[in-house]
Amino acid sequence: MRRVVITGVVFLYFIPVLNSWGFYGHQHINQYAVFLLPPEMMVLFKPHLDHITEHAVDPDKRRYAIKEEAPRHYIDMDHYGTFPFDSLPRKWKEAIDRFSEDSLNAHGIVPWWIQVMLGRLTNAFRDKNVSHILQYAAELGHYLADAHVPLHTSSNHNGQFTDQKGIHGFWESRIPELLAEKKWDLVSGKAQYISDPLQFTWKLILESAKAVDSVLRFEKELSFSFPADQRYSYESRKGIILKQYSSAYAMAYNEKLNGMVERRMRASIHAVASFWYTAWINAGQPDLSSLKHKNITKEEENEMNELNRSWKANGSIKDH
Ligand SMILES: [Zn+2]
Repeated sequence: MRRVVITGVVFLYFIPVLNSWGFYGHQHINQYAVFLLPPEMMVLFKPHLDHITEHAVDPDKRRYAIKEEAPRHYIDMDHYGTFPFDSLPRKWKEAIDRFSEDSLNAHGIVPWWIQVMLGRLTNAFRDKNVSHILQYAAELGHYLADAHVPLHTSSNHNGQFTDQKGIHGFWESRIPELLAEKKWDLVSGKAQYISDPLQFTWKLILESAKAVDSVLRFEKELSFSFPADQRYSYESRKGIILKQYSSAYAMAYNEKLNGMVERRMRASIHAVASFWYTAWINAGQPDLSSLKHKNITKEEENEMNELNRSWKANGSIKDH
């Protein structure tokens, strides 16, 4: 009799708590955002679409190497009471005065880190530094996209407190991977100037925080009504059994969420393009057409790597 030996089962969507939107989502958000830009910016961004897309995930890669990196991707709003979390001052300096920098870092700083990255991108436009423009644009896109994900605004970020481990990647990776390209309309409107980026950021953070309850509750309800043996699918890759939420379960969850994932992804794309546009306007609308043929040289790439190292040493938000 043949015996099937299962050496290990890996749950695909168990780990991505460190992945945010998954590589798929982040890369598509940055890619689509380029097409919302005005021609004066498109002239530089489109020829470098690959860079903007590939480097959308650099901040997640850095999380493993740099301890200061992790809090830049989330904020546990539930730590500050209930909606609309008035106990937390929206301005960094006032928030430090009330809670201390250590405590803020312990619960995530994404809304403020977005402003740091916007400042860096604005300076890069002023300096007409192509490699910095592309890199900061790609990374700003990452943090903005993270802030649009409801579970990035909750301490229960992977359903670990409610017996829903894996829900993080389920919402932000599995569903977009199944539906984004085939079913969703993600590009709408043009980039818009944002006169108050901090206020804009807080608005989207609060939208995310408000949606946390539905994200968790709908999956919980579905888990009771959906046949347990059809909730996961298994596939074998190189001797390892990969377990993931089945597409039927993902479709049912998406239905219950009534388009939420698509709406948040579309809002991310629009926000990313609008922040890039705002940085360019605030830098005095530099002429980018003269930069379009400038490729990133080996030296500039080394400089970017050096930059990453220096972030490790000087990564504190207070420096900016
Ligand atoms: Zn992230």
